[in-house]
This record gives sequence, structure tokens and C-alpha cells, in this order.
Amino acid sequence: MHATTTLASLTGRTAAQQPFWPDPDALDAVERELAGLPALTTENEVADLMGGMGLVALGSALVIQGGDCAERFHEAVPELVRQKVDNLQSLAALMRAGSGLPAVTVGRIAGQYAKPRSSPFETEDSGSRRRMPSYCGDAVNEPEFEPLARAPEPRRLLTAYTCSRLVLDEIRRSWAGRPVLERVYTSHELLLLPYERPLARDGALGTYSGSAHFGWIGERTRREDGAHVALAQAVRNPIGVKLGPSASPQEAVALSLALNPEGVPGRLTFIVRFGAKEVDRLLPPVVQAVARHGAPVVWLCDPMHGNGLKVAGHKTRLIEPMRAEVASFTRALRSHGQWPAGLHLELTPDPVTECVSEREESPRFTDYRSTCDPRLNAEQSVEMVSHFLSLL
Ligand code: PEP
Ligand code: MN
Repeated sequence: MHATTTLASLTGRTAAQQPFWPDPDALDAVERELAGLPALTTENEVADLMGGMGLVALGSALVIQGGDCAERFHEAVPELVRQKVDNLQSLAALMRAGSGLPAVTVGRIAGQYAKPRSSPFETEDSGSRRRMPSYCGDAVNEPEFEPLARAPEPRRLLTAYTCSRLVLDEIRRSWAGRPVLERVYTSHELLLLPYERPLARDGALGTYSGSAHFGWIGERTRREDGAHVALAQAVRNPIGVKLGPSASPQEAVALSLALNPEGVPGRLTFIVRFGAKEVDRLLPPVVQAVARHGAPVVWLCDPMHGNGLKVAGHKTRLIEPMRAEVASFTRALRSHGQWPAGLHLELTPDPVTECVSEREESPRFTDYRSTCDPRLNAEQSVEMVSHFLSLL
């Protein structure tokens, strides 16, 4: 059932980062159509993940959350999904082997089709320097630098639903014979309200998001009085919030209380992404304030989003500052008696050269495929997880 009552709280709230949809009637029609489709995830699966995150909150398990910055519709095919799931599973196995603890595995997968952007418009780097709407993920538009491709198209939300279902079906096949703690669960940023609202459903225990097992709120949409926080408040799933350099200790405490008022261990995860330069200064006071005055949270380190830069015209991230941020994260959590629960990474099984090392004198980016942020390839992901484990 479509959860109309609980979502009434979204009305009148500011929704940041919504694309400029040219045809509001077409958008309404899509929202109604989504409301009539079955939920993607089940309440029981969501509860299973909540159980796992509860162990994490108590310091008895680790988390690996990872996947593409932006999934593509054309990649929603069994073979590619299997490769992504296998890649995540091998990182989780590494975590288990290295720590002796269970590792909860969450993909940025089966719904990671919408992107917040620092600017709603983008100007071509070379040639004509034409300006057009930014690429906002396959759920909104297409990455090609052409006016037609960049126009937001509401029916793409229905394709996002269909592709998520195809991916999730394949993920569920990978569950056969696996205990619930060793399954790959789905997650994406809860960004597009005309998609998330109709997929919030009334279950036996209350309203839950049927678009994913775990949803997070991004750095750009975490205003406490904004629509995204209201949406997350209205659902029972385990949820995350990204915290970047502008997050004050007071804001973090307030968000923890607003999103986890009952203090349920595992309900709320803070995914911190302060950047290697600022993390030592900014993270410790946030951890201390939340530990003293806030609700229980799981702490994950996202060493990617605070460390972006451009090299030779390519958006990239250097391995060394990412490693440094992971080390600072672990130290800050430990020194305040909190559990450094794991990593949130943008990664792919493909042998891409999107993130590079400082040691490469002139990185060549010979295999750059991401339409959004640069990802770690399989080898770089293993190194990052091993580095994290060596610090525990
Ligand atoms: C992301 O995870 O792709 C993202 C946009 O992150 P953030 O909200 O932390 O910038
Ligand atoms: Mn990203």
C-alpha cells in the first residue's frame, strides 16, 4: 500500500537538488504509476539488514558499502551484476578473514541512478563551450553532451524502477545458500522525491522504503528541515547521512536525534567524507559530540568524496590522500571510544584507471569509463580494504 499518511510530513518542505522537470503533469502521472507497482524490496529483507547493522552498531561486525558513483541502465544485465556482486563479496570475505568478524555487505546498486550536482548546468570543456543541464543520473537524463540527451525525462523514473528490479532479481539469485549476514543488500541515495515517495510503502511494522534496503541522504540534501530528512524519518529502513566539511558537531547531533529518536542501534549510519586535509581537524569534535549528546550511530568512512581533483582534464582521486583519510578516520573513532565500522567506496570490478597514485608521474587514464565520479578498480579496492583492516 502507498504510504500516504506518513509522507504528509514532506509537504511544504524544501526539496534540494531536484531536476527541473519540464512537464509537471507527466511527472505526476509517472509518480502515480510508480505507486501502483510492487515495492522492489520486502519489509523482511529490510529487517534482516537492520539486524546486521545492529551488530555493527555494537562493534560486533564491519560494513563494506560500495559500487558505482552512478549506475547505468544498460548495465542492468545478469552478467555485469554478477561481476559487481562477486567483487563486493570478495571484499567482504577479505574483511571477515582480516577481522574475524561478520561483514555486512551493501552495494551502491539496484537503484543508484540519480545524482546531486554541484551545479545544475555544465559547460563543454572544449570547442563550442555550449552550456546545458548537468547529467543527473540515468533516472533523469543521459550523459551525452547534447540538448536532447540532457533534457530531464520523467518516464526515465519508470526505467529506473525496471532496471532496479532486474538487478535486484540477480542479487537475490546470489543469496541462494547464504546466511542473511552474508548477502549483498541494496542501497542508493534517496534523492528524487517523485521516485522515493511512491515507493515508500506501509508494511506490517510501519512505513518502509521499498526502493532499496538501505537509503542514504547526500551531503547536499541533509538539511534538518528539508524534505529528504523528512522522507528518511518516515521510513523504518536502516539509513545513512553523508557528512562533509560543512557539518558542525551541533548539526550532527541534531540529525542523529531527528533520524534515530528511539536510539535503535543500526538505524542510522553517518558516512563521513571530510577530505584528507580537513578530517583531523573536523571529525574528532563531531564524533565526540555525537557520542556524548546524540543517538547511537554507525560510523563509516567515505574516503572518496572529500578528495576529488582534476588531473589532465580528468576528474580523479589520488590513492594516498584516500588512505590517509581512512587512517585519520580510524584514529578519530578509536580515540573517542567509538567503532570504526567500515568503508563506503566508489568501486567497480572493471580494470579502470579512474583513481590514480601520486607516484605516477603522468597518469594516462587509458581506461576511464565513469560518467560521474572516478572509481577504485578491483585491485585498488582490495588495497583500500586491506589498509583499513591493518589499522583496526
Ligand atoms: C555520492 O556518494 O556519489 C555523492 C554525491 O556523495 P556526497 O553526497 O557525499 O557528495
Ligand atoms: Mn560519487
